[in-house]
Amino acid sequence: MKTEFKYKNVHSCEAVVLACIDFRFWKETIKFVEEELEIESYDFPKIPGAAKAINECQNEGDVPMKCIGVPCDLHHVARIVIVNHADCGAYGGSAEFKGDLEAEQRFHESELKKAKEKIIAKYPEKEVILAFAKLVDGGESIEFVRVI
Ligand SMILES: [Zn+2]
Repeated sequence: MKTEFKYKNVHSCEAVVLACIDFRFWKETIKFVEEELEIESYDFPKIPGAAKAINECQNEGDVPMKCIGVPCDLHHVARIVIVNHADCGAYGGSAEFKGDLEAEQRFHESELKKAKEKIIAKYPEKEVILAFAKLVDGGESIEFVRVI
């Protein structure tokens, strides 16, 4: 297979988007990033639990921090997006919250904010955008909620 390479001689992009590996959410995450956040070029590392992986880092050389560090240092991104999602297996899934969807959302919001603190400490000049991919309509739809 041969396909067009759109970035000849381009070494910078707008953002890094860190999401969970979960097959149920990443395609929709792309849609959210491109259509709602209007970000066209971005690194897209995926690691189980997204914010969880950042929060568990012991030092800067750990892989999750590198997923942010390489885009910042090599691709000069201005924005860092972190997306957590509902029913995330890395956190024990929705079962962990015994069906309390609000408690689950609050928990993910605090996880995302914790990850932001950690990232801002190293990259204070970057804009950090947090989002939670929530299941709505009885689990038939995904809604991306910005976490401020
Ligand atoms: Zn997940």
